[in-house]
Amino acid sequence: MNIILLGAPGAGKGTQATRLSDRYGMPHISTGDIFRENIKNGTPIGLLAKSYTDKGQLVPDEVTCEIVKDRLAREDCKKGYLLDGFPRTIVQAEALDKFAKIDAVVNINIDFSLLMARLCGRRVCRECGESYHISTLGGATTCARCGGELYQRKDDNPETVQSRLNVYKDQTAPLIDYYTRKGILLNFTGTDDPPEVLFGQICAELDKMDR
Ligand code: AMP
Repeated sequence: MNIILLGAPGAGKGTQATRLSDRYGMPHISTGDIFRENIKNGTPIGLLAKSYTDKGQLVPDEVTCEIVKDRLAREDCKKGYLLDGFPRTIVQAEALDKFAKIDAVVNINIDFSLLMARLCGRRVCRECGESYHISTLGGATTCARCGGELYQRKDDNPETVQSRLNVYKDQTAPLIDYYTRKGILLNFTGTDDPPEVLFGQICAELDKMDR
C-alpha cells in the first residue's frame, strides 16, 4: 500500500504516520524530517531548504520532488510507504503521479482555530519524532516513548505558523479536490481527543483495502 497523509500543519499527520508505520511495517517518509536532517548536517540541500523552512514557505517543487523520487526508489519502499508532508502542491502531485502509484490519501480535516495553539505549544522528540503538547507534559523534558530529549521546532512560532497555515490554504488544500477526483481520498476529522481515537478510525478504513 502506498499512502499519502494530507492535512494542515498540526493536524496530526506525523503522529498518525509513526503509528501507521509501526502497524503496517511501512517506511514513514516525511519531507519535513528529510529537510531538518539536511539542515542539521549542513548539506547543500539543507542550506537551501533552511531559507524557506525558517519563513514557513515551501522548498521549491523541483528540489522536493527529486528528493522524494530518490527516496521512493530505495529497497524498503518496494512493499509500500507512507508519505507525510508530500505532496504539498499540485505540481508535486502531478510529478508524483509520474513515478508512483498511490492507493489512498488519508486526509485529516481539522478546525483551524485549534492549530496555532497546538503548534506553538508543540514539543518534539529529537530521537523518535514523537510529538507532545506542553499542556500535557507536566514539565517533562524527555520523551515518554524512548527517553529522547524534547525540543521546540524553530518554525513552531506564531509568525511562521501563520505563514505555514496560509501556504497550506493556498497551495496544499487544492490537493483535496485533486485526490477526490481520482477517487482515492479518505476523509477523517482531527480533534483534541487522544491520537489513538483517530488512529483506530484510519486503521479501520485501511484494513478494508487489499495489500
Ligand atoms: P513539516 O515538518 O511537514 O511541517 O515541514 C516543515 C517545512 O519543510 C515546511 O514548512 C516546508 O518549508 C518544508 N517542506 C516539507 N515538505 C515540503 C514539501 N512537500 N514541499 C515543499 N516544502 C516542504
